[in-house]
Amino acid sequence: MATLTKSKYMNGGQCQRLLWFANKKQLPESSLMEQHRFSQGPIFEKYVKQIYPNGVELGDLDFNKNIEKTKELVNDKKLIFEAGFKVDELFIRADILEPNGDGWNLYEIKASSDEKKLKIYFPDLAFQKYVIEKTGLKIKKCFVLKLNKEYVKNGEIEAEKLVEKHDVTENVELVGNIEENVQKYLETLKEEDEPPITISVNCNRPYECSLKAHCWGTLPTNNVLHLTNWRQYWKFFHEGIIDIKDIPKEEELKPKDEVIRKAALSCKVVVAKEEIKHFMKTLKYPLYHFDFETFDTAVPIYDKSRPYQKIPFQYSLHIQHEDGKLEHFEYLADGKEDPRLKLLERLKDEIKGKGSVVVFNKSFEKSVLTKLAEDFPEHKDWIEVVLSRLIDLAVPFQNFHYYCPTQKGKYSIKKVLPAITGKGYENLEINNGGDASILYYNSHIANKEEVNDKLRQNMLNYCGLDTEAMVWIVDELSKLIK
Ligand code: SF4
Repeated sequence: MATLTKSKYMNGGQCQRLLWFANKKQLPESSLMEQHRFSQGPIFEKYVKQIYPNGVELGDLDFNKNIEKTKELVNDKKLIFEAGFKVDELFIRADILEPNGDGWNLYEIKASSDEKKLKIYFPDLAFQKYVIEKTGLKIKKCFVLKLNKEYVKNGEIEAEKLVEKHDVTENVELVGNIEENVQKYLETLKEEDEPPITISVNCNRPYECSLKAHCWGTLPTNNVLHLTNWRQYWKFFHEGIIDIKDIPKEEELKPKDEVIRKAALSCKVVVAKEEIKHFMKTLKYPLYHFDFETFDTAVPIYDKSRPYQKIPFQYSLHIQHEDGKLEHFEYLADGKEDPRLKLLERLKDEIKGKGSVVVFNKSFEKSVLTKLAEDFPEHKDWIEVVLSRLIDLAVPFQNFHYYCPTQKGKYSIKKVLPAITGKGYENLEINNGGDASILYYNSHIANKEEVNDKLRQNMLNYCGLDTEAMVWIVDELSKLIK
């Protein structure tokens, strides 16, 4: 008999096809980044549990023993971690169940520091409350325990300061349709074939669905979901206009989307020469093409750092002189200590004099540098000079002053590089920043993988290509405006 758990209930809330695949255990393997995110949960929970020293841990018990023991502890009015309840085909494990007079408080632990995401957890708690109350218990209060994003580590982790408690009782009370959803999702679990669901905004909400390759893979090469105005593209989609070529000519699009339409209809690159010329004039040689790699953890591991703060551990720097001469510098920390100071000192030796500091997608490097200035004020003056010299090479692409239909509406360096140079990342062992970050964390910090020369070389190759790619992109843009 299929069982509806809280994670399946949440899957169903996003999409019944996702629920069906999850139930059949046919979801694609999680990415390294997703695995990393999941691995942070138990680390955070360890600190939450320090706040409730009298709690009884049932997380290690198997299904039946957990339910049995929960009944016993409920009778004894004990605080329970991982309290299990099964009612017919419904099963939940509550992160924390705490006695409160003639009722109970229900807690959900989330290794998230983002307050905006709180609302995602209301249906989850509402489902748990629904199942628990079916056993005759009364849930009086509901809480989410999450990371305090302002917490700064200074010595030992202080659990009381790290954990932030949110009373969400009223929000959970307002969640409706639980009974109706439960019936609907139980039906889905029994279905032989995958439900015929149409793709929608739910494919990205509240999480990017892991089945997008499956469901979106059949869309035409140039489809309306490549447009930047998502309200308009979903309107087209639901009206049955899927291919960009089928958008009525008289339909007015935003300027960026007009570029996408023009490129799709002509199957050609669209270039705004004057705008690119204008951008190129903002570059001051020598160009310091620069890129950080970072990792983050839910619970900070270094002093002067916060939950999920991006910790830079590697950089690549290509210095491009006006006469074409190219120099390359790089740094990859050894993982033995907080990498930030050494990295800053090295970088200070290499970014000197005058010239633009060129990055691709400025907001990331800017936020990492700004945090470094905050945490290491002795380097603040130098960092501020670097910040004032930052030029974002993504700008011509974000503005669609260069656009090739192969970019599919995107302007990340992974899409732009092949579009403008024909070169790509496919021959590298590590070919995206997420993998680089997690491989570094797993090997150099968490000791889950061996640190060896090959891994380190692969990491250097990846980061090195990011900045070399920027040199090639500048070269191509220069040729375009000649
Ligand atoms: S990609 Fe969209 S339609 Fe497909 S399962 Fe996910 S949410 Fe449902």
